[in-house]
Amino acid sequence: MTANLESKPAPLVAWPADVARTMRRNAVAYMTRHDHGPDIDPAEEHDVRANCGACSIRGWAPLTDDAGTEVPPAPNVAGWARVWVQAGRPSPVMFREAFEDERVTADNPAYASALARDILTWGVTFTQPSHVTR
Ligand SMILES: [Zn+2]
Repeated sequence: MTANLESKPAPLVAWPADVARTMRRNAVAYMTRHDHGPDIDPAEEHDVRANCGACSIRGWAPLTDDAGTEVPPAPNVAGWARVWVQAGRPSPVMFREAFEDERVTADNPAYASALARDILTWGVTFTQPSHVTR
């Protein structure tokens, strides 16, 4: 019997428990550990927060762009959807459409597949009102 090279991809499976525990621990740390104290010099705030993982993953962004135009808050780091899922944190409503876009994106199938595996592992969706399924 010959292998069928055109076969379907392997079925999606949850991350092994030990891997999932490490992912959860790292994601929670990433979301909660700020690289700065509470008192930030306003003149330095942009650079300090833009370079802080916890601020970035929570969607910190300047209220205006370089031209002074107001911009809505948005996650500004790569992989943010996976971090939110791995940490088991409810995603803010304002991020859910962007989360879903990352889940179904075709331009990075490896990322989308890993995100789907995260969702399978932790039971989170971005389309249900409560969005945490377990
Ligand atoms: Zn921060």
